[in-house]
This record gives sequence, C-alpha cells and structure tokens, in this order.
Amino acid sequence: MNVHKPRCTFKHDRFYGNNYKGDGTKQCWMTDYVVNYGTEDNPLYYCQFHKEKARDKEGYLSACPGQPDCSDFKSEIVLKKLLAAWNEENKSLPSYNHKTFALPGISCKGRGFEGFEFSESVIFDDSFFYDVEFKKTIFRKEASFKKVMFTCNNRNEAYFCEAQFEGDARFDDAVFKVDMLFESAKFSGEASFMGCQLQKKACFKKVQFNSRVRFEDEIDFLGETSFEKTVFSGYTEFTGITFQKKPNYESSHFKCDLNLRAIFKEGAHFDFAHFDKVVNIYANTRFEDAVGFKGGGF
Ligand SMILES: [Zn+2]
Repeated sequence: MNVHKPRCTFKHDRFYGNNYKGDGTKQCWMTDYVVNYGTEDNPLYYCQFHKEKARDKEGYLSACPGQPDCSDFKSEIVLKKLLAAWNEENKSLPSYNHKTFALPGISCKGRGFEGFEFSESVIFDDSFFYDVEFKKTIFRKEASFKKVMFTCNNRNEAYFCEAQFEGDARFDDAVFKVDMLFESAKFSGEASFMGCQLQKKACFKKVQFNSRVRFEDEIDFLGETSFEKTVFSGYTEFTGITFQKKPNYESSHFKCDLNLRAIFKEGAHFDFAHFDKVVNIYANTRFEDAVGFKGGGF
C-alpha cells in the first residue's frame, strides 16, 4: 500500500539548493511530526517546527508568536535527532557532496547542543530560538542565524561560549532579547553581526576573530559589552554603532585594520589594548565620556 505522507507547507527561500532532503523547491521537507491545521477538505499541513506559522495565518495564536506550548518541549529533541541523521548521511558522502541543513523559520528550543558538531553548513534564518545553549558546539561550515530571535523561557541567555565557527558566522539582523554570551568562542571565517539588535549584555571576552569582523549598520549595544582580551586578526568594522554603556576593550588586540565609527555614551575602556595596524576613526565618532588608553600600544 502506498501511504501518502503529508508534507509541511511552510515555504522559505533558504530551502532551495543543495539542502538535506530538499528537492530544489522552497518548501519545508518535513514529513514527520506534521499535523493538519486546516480542515479535511482544505488541509493545511505544518510540521511541529513551523506550526506557529499556521497559527499566525489563522490568527488564533496568543499575542506572543513563537511562545511554546507544552508539546514544544520536545522540539529540541526532534531537532537533534534530525541533525544526527544528517551528520550520519554526510559522513557517508564525499565532502564535495555534503548537504546543507536548512530549516529556516522554525520555532524551537536550542538546548542540549553542548559539544554538538554540525558537519556542514546550517541555515536557521528567521527562526525563533529560546534557551539556546551551544556551548563548545562546532560549526564545521557556515552557520547562518540571520534575523533569528533569541529569547528565553528559563535561561536569560543565548549561550555560545567556547563555540567554534570554522566557516562564516552570520547573525545579521538577529535580535538578542537575552544576554549574548560568546566568551572564548573562535571564529575562523567572517563574523557578521550587521544590524543586530542587542538588548542585553554582549560578552565577547577572549574571543578569537581570525577573519573579517563586521559590527555594522545601526547596532545599539544597550547592555554591558565586553571585548576584553579579544583578538581581532582580520579587518574589523565597528561602524554605525552606539554603545550605551562603557564597552570594555581592555587588553584586546587588533592585528589588522580597525574601522571605527561609533558613539560611546559612557566613554570606552581601551587600557592595554594593542593596535598593530591602521585605526581609522571616522567622523561622527564621539566619546561622550572618558576613554582609557593606559598601557596600550599602537
Ligand atoms: Zn516545516
């Protein structure tokens, strides 16, 4: 008997391409955990990661889209299972045939990924992640978290400490409603945070940026910000930035050019910072309070 499995109807441009289980269309590939949110005559199938979208359309979701109901607490387990199967499949393929894991627009918990290894590129753009814990997680290729909303249920943080990004890391237009913690993370490819909304603490202490770094496009650092002992080895941009609180760049090391166009509302702390190359300080840069450069080196 040929049983037709319904497939999630959610569409996103990022499903297209050399994606795991993708078929070259823009439609979500999930056929498990799919539920009919429509009627028998007019079915509207969504997987458990995209069911919030169905509710958005139907208009019966609470004021806070993406907030989990009880059944959502299993979503991270399912996600991890899918990712483990994807890793296994990639292992059996030559590296030039590895598949990208694309599951954009999801609503999911992001716990339990400590030490997890993503074997290829991952795309989670436009998603809603809560309670993210990517401690010591290894991203072997590109990690795309564009326009992702990081929020919380229990933990007030998006935890990426000691994570390793071996490809480009893209957090453009992401919204961090919780503390963004990247302490001791390592970025081997481009690290891009363009247009990010950082509503709480931003901790990049002891991070190694080994390639280009882009903090650009109207980023407002609202909370405590630390780049203490951070090493910037690539061309670095802090342009179009406002620091509401005094950022800490103590003992940071800029090994490549630094472009600075920023407003420092409470000054800045650059003590013992080292600048090996050119520092371009553009017009519109303002230090509205004291700046410390004690012991620094140019
Ligand atoms: Zn789906």
